Amino acid sequence: MLELTDLKVHDESRQGEAYNPSTGKPLVLGKRFYIESYGCQMNFADSEIVASILNDSGFDATSYPEEADLILINTCSIREKAEQTVRNRLQTFREVKQDRPGMLVGVLGCMAERLKSKFLEEEKLVDIVVGPDAYRSLPGLIQEAESGQKAVNVLLSREETYADISPVRLDSNGVTAFVSIMRGCNNMCSFCVVPFTRGRERSRNADSIVEECTSLFNQGYREVTLLGQNVDSYYYYPDIPGNGPARPVTFAMLLERVADISPALRVRFSTSHPKDITDEVLYAICRHENICKYIHLPVQSGSTRILQLMNRTYTREWYQARIERIREIIPGCGISSDIIAGFCTETQEDHQDTLDLMKQSRYDMSYMFYYSERPGTLAARRYTDDVPLDIKKYRLDEIVKLQNRMSLDSNRQDIGTVCKVLIEGDSKKSARDWMGRNSQNKVVVFPKKDVSFNKGDYAIVKIKECTGATLIGEALAKEAIAEGSGDLKESIFS
Ligand code: SF4
Repeated sequence: MLELTDLKVHDESRQGEAYNPSTGKPLVLGKRFYIESYGCQMNFADSEIVASILNDSGFDATSYPEEADLILINTCSIREKAEQTVRNRLQTFREVKQDRPGMLVGVLGCMAERLKSKFLEEEKLVDIVVGPDAYRSLPGLIQEAESGQKAVNVLLSREETYADISPVRLDSNGVTAFVSIMRGCNNMCSFCVVPFTRGRERSRNADSIVEECTSLFNQGYREVTLLGQNVDSYYYYPDIPGNGPARPVTFAMLLERVADISPALRVRFSTSHPKDITDEVLYAICRHENICKYIHLPVQSGSTRILQLMNRTYTREWYQARIERIREIIPGCGISSDIIAGFCTETQEDHQDTLDLMKQSRYDMSYMFYYSERPGTLAARRYTDDVPLDIKKYRLDEIVKLQNRMSLDSNRQDIGTVCKVLIEGDSKKSARDWMGRNSQNKVVVFPKKDVSFNKGDYAIVKIKECTGATLIGEALAKEAIAEGSGDLKESIFS
């Protein structure tokens, strides 16, 4: 079960992940922070910004809450269960605090923004509440809290993009990294809490994005995912004093600039909105081998009537036309979606429309969930959540079963083909196998045997078999950066 937002991937395996790098810096203030993160990729990327701000003000990281002077929890508000998880964690931290009376507890992210100072009344243990646009004020808020006052900053900003802050990487594999290119969202999808918790949309300075991606590449990273709630509406006006009006940078232009860093750096992005994705972006993907042939295009529902209630601002026919255009311009492109079962007033006929649209779109995978009303959203104010839970669950089950069949079919079609795989690390099931992804974002596993690959290498793999979630193959060749030229060169195994 996944989350009700466009900004996925809401990776279940990362929920509650604690930040644990060794910064290598001496302890300036002799203090340690512990941070754990919940929710979407944007939250995990934000935790890296927070870690950077705290490092700069002398805090070192620990992966043990028991030895922390400051515990931070970066929260998600997207559904009730996510908020409950945070409340449960706070209970655990209450016990830790009893043993360390001077320790501070801070709540960050969407739940902080949604509840504001109410959080302090509801959870007496919390000392600091900080919204997603106010992380720069954390050092000051910590000082305030150290003096015994409760500290809150949940101001949303129209400008803040943290463009100048170099995130300290969570460093889960050293190969793939997320880079925020914008914040907030100007859409008002009626089920979504993001416009209220993350504010208006703003695009980050394009130069700072390219610099961050270049620096990641130089550190050995081989894939960047450009992150935003609605990346297709990225639009940045460079400020060049004395040079007159500068040419704005669109998302397609940004994609190409990042792709030009090196052919050995893969570029992905998340998330696209069907109303905004342009042919310009599709052609940019086509022109660059290293921009991955994969688009996550959330449909949410196959019924135009429900789409209108969701305020998605496109029809079923518009969406179908976008899918056809993707398939026409980028043959073989991987496509995935988000689907909500049982939105307000959804009938069996609407549900059938969703199943039909899924079949026509032939998604390789989808993030599927049933509707859960969130306080403060347009849907909560305007509509009645009137589809009974058992029907929501039944419809979701049908959607999941259909998607599982389509994912298996899609993977079966890859058997016998050859693809390029970026190796991310050992397979979860066996350290004797490598795991990576192809351009279409499908997970590929292949035996290490006696071939000398490393994490971050590109392998040319022939697909031999599959499950619904994984392609299983055998390495035929290796691609490495040729010395001098910076281009990728293939070596074929005899
Ligand atoms: S308002 Fe719509 S487009 Fe914006 S984050 Fe929410 S679901 Fe995505």
